[in-house]
Amino acid sequence: MTGPSPDHLPLFPTQAIGSLPRPQLVRDLLGQRQTLPQQEWRARLDDCVRFAIQLQQQAGLDIISDGEWRRTQYIHEFLSRAGGFRRCRRYQHQGQSRLGLVVVERMQTATPVFVEDAQFLVDNAQAVTKATLPSPFLIAVRYWQPEYSAAAYPTCEHFLEHLAEILAREAQALETTGVQIIQLDDPALAYFCDRRLTSGQAIHDERLQRDWDIGRDLTHAIDAINCVCAGLEVETHLHCCHSVSKRHSDVQGNYQPILPRLTALQVDQLNLEFAYPDTGDVADLKHVPEHFRVGMGVVDVRKERLPSVAEIADLARRGLVHLAPERIVLNPDCGFAPDAGEPPTLDEAYTKLCRLVAAARQLRAEEAA
Ligand SMILES: [Zn+2]
Repeated sequence: MTGPSPDHLPLFPTQAIGSLPRPQLVRDLLGQRQTLPQQEWRARLDDCVRFAIQLQQQAGLDIISDGEWRRTQYIHEFLSRAGGFRRCRRYQHQGQSRLGLVVVERMQTATPVFVEDAQFLVDNAQAVTKATLPSPFLIAVRYWQPEYSAAAYPTCEHFLEHLAEILAREAQALETTGVQIIQLDDPALAYFCDRRLTSGQAIHDERLQRDWDIGRDLTHAIDAINCVCAGLEVETHLHCCHSVSKRHSDVQGNYQPILPRLTALQVDQLNLEFAYPDTGDVADLKHVPEHFRVGMGVVDVRKERLPSVAEIADLARRGLVHLAPERIVLNPDCGFAPDAGEPPTLDEAYTKLCRLVAAARQLRAEEAA
């Protein structure tokens, strides 16, 4: 472990959520995974990831990731390494016909998927380190479809159970690297925040239309997340956002439907978003169960506009109405590029992170006064 301990961070610590935009060089390298010799491919990406680490440290973040620069997409990277998925389900998204991945065979993961990546981060960082994993619930609801998946897993719950087992092993392996925070990414929980979805209205993504039952589904989701985090000594986070896709969000709605239902969830911190319109509302914070700290998303990652330091600090200050300062961590709403092809530039992300850090310093000075 090279960085400081998460227990000794200043008030309003600043953190990355996960992904940073990939420069074209990194996108090109990701495309050469099959054509370059494995060792050379990895060594070239190592050089890039050192830069992603340095960028976050230079911005002044207290908690950093590896920018997820070794992943083409935050879920697919796991699926392709876990095996058992095939792109064969036709569905409609924003009026376009697409071919989506579904689980068709039982997953076979002999070895952990992200350990080497986390070890590199830990060995090269001077800040507190965070590794991210897709949440089992997210994968279960997106990739289990009865007509394709029932032979491998008779029900979605069977699939969820196996995912939780595999991801628990993955999290335990990540912990051995010395990484200090493990975050599960679960934009699917925000489906229950979207009143269009829960009332059965048609929306842009056909895959999201199903028989949602918040009581039943949320209980399954929480059980699976608790299973992944059981016995871990590292700090655990759940990141619950509204999905980022091409400068928009897939779903909308504040967190009030889900926050009071998370009392049985056993993680240390919820990372939520408040900056982008129609996501979280700061008033939702009064519903956060007492055992969580909150990573407040106070910087929008979707739109190109750069918020001012004052604007960021104002949004964070509104959180203090509901939470003690010790329970507030500051972050961008989401990762800047969950998919390597997302449009934000690295300079845009860097400037936003610098301003996030400046806003945190301002709030610390106010608390100290
Ligand atoms: Zn997110």
